[in-house]
Amino acid sequence: MKCVYCEAALPKKDAKFCPDCGKQQPVLISKEEPKPIPPILKVDEAAELLRISRSYLYRLLARPDDPVPWFPLGKSKRFITEELLAWARRNQQNIIKAG
Ligand SMILES: [Zn+2]
Repeated sequence: MKCVYCEAALPKKDAKFCPDCGKQQPVLISKEEPKPIPPILKVDEAAELLRISRSYLYRLLARPDDPVPWFPLGKSKRFITEELLAWARRNQQNIIKAG
């Protein structure tokens, strides 16, 4: 490892400061990338996207005024991520009762 400023050799791999120029070394950020959100979600994933419980999501599906949009796929419910996000944007000003 070398100092990013003066290229002096650093004593330790994770040295915070360069012994030569004294400058603080940038912290290495882990390369872990956030998982992309799939375009179609299952119930659990939709609840996770909205950061709510599964049971609360079911209540939101049943509410008469602008329910969370979903479509049936076989016997299960599916959610289009775009639609969910649009719903959240539409409803961000409303206080949605947990019911
Ligand atoms: Zn240096």
